[in-house]
Amino acid sequence: MSNRAFNFCAGPAALPEAVLQRAQAELLDWNGKGLSVMEMSHRSDDYTAIAVKAEQDLRDLLSVPANYKVLFLQGGASQQFAEIPLNLLPEGASADYIDTGIWSRKAVEEARRYGKVNIAASAKPYDYFAIPPQSEWQLDAKAAYVHYASNETIGGLEFNWIPETGDVPLVVDMSSDILSRPLDVSKFGLIYAGAQKNIGPSGLVVVVVREDLLGRARSVCPTMLDYKIAADNGSMYNTPATFSWYLSGLVFEWLKEQGGVAAMEQRNRAKKDRLYGFIDASGLYSNPITGEARSWMNVPFRLADERLDKDFLAGADARGLLNLKGHRSVGGMRASIYNALGLDAIEALVGYMAEFEKERG
Ligand SMILES: *Cc1c(COP(=O)(O)O)cnc(C)c1O
Repeated sequence: MSNRAFNFCAGPAALPEAVLQRAQAELLDWNGKGLSVMEMSHRSDDYTAIAVKAEQDLRDLLSVPANYKVLFLQGGASQQFAEIPLNLLPEGASADYIDTGIWSRKAVEEARRYGKVNIAASAKPYDYFAIPPQSEWQLDAKAAYVHYASNETIGGLEFNWIPETGDVPLVVDMSSDILSRPLDVSKFGLIYAGAQKNIGPSGLVVVVVREDLLGRARSVCPTMLDYKIAADNGSMYNTPATFSWYLSGLVFEWLKEQGGVAAMEQRNRAKKDRLYGFIDASGLYSNPITGEARSWMNVPFRLADERLDKDFLAGADARGLLNLKGHRSVGGMRASIYNALGLDAIEALVGYMAEFEKERG
């Protein structure tokens, strides 16, 4: 019905078409109130209902325990790289960080501005093609927290297990794989995710934080970055990103209609199995990540001859298979296949890849 392409962008990424249609239908006149959500006071009863429902739906989807706060903040995931140490790393203390790629290293660099960082494990000896097993980690029992990125969006390296850190709070950047499958939130002290991959529009960041970690911010922590102030004010210490929050709520509703994260797991498993299976069987395409660490959401791949890259991308564009170019730091290709993309997108991509290989491989 529409002329929408299959969008494999890593972020801002594809949103479910049904969500965009609903937002379009409600844009000028939300619920017969004669105004757009964008034009509502964030303190109004109508907007409060939207915000509360979005939070509740997310809580339902992830079975968030009652002793966790769910915050809808601004500044994207990158602001959390500073916000986490400002809140959780006391002056003079040290935090453990796991390096599995570009995003986890960005978090390290930012945390170093505020205190001591111990790289407890790194995927570097594995060329970032595998996750070091926890038996190799040098965790510090006195660390303020342990930070890792569950899915490295650029490298295509994903944890399929949750680290065990005992009493040390576990902090995770889940920007690109939150809601892709069920999750045991109780294992974590804090989960954060920039919205523009699997949640909604960019700029918004969702933080799920255990209550006992609130109220620890350093005295220099800006008011706007203090988790406790955000929690005490229902993420409305200042004007929140109201429209992004609303749109994320529509995505949560859509996810529930689809059968929640259990249904997403099935669908995402079928998608990644189909794509990796095709890549592994082909003579032209390859993905270097070891089997169990292959990302379900971001699939980087290379052509055997990089001189074909330009033609591959041009042909893909012409077929409405968009944004397959790999991150500028690594080259090659990358297909980001978040929740909003169905198996039909994978079939279209694989069909094109097979055709291209037959003609040019
Ligand atoms: C995209 C991404 C970020 C950065 O998100 P911003 O919202 O642009 O700050 C951080 N971490 C991971 C894992 C990402 O995928």
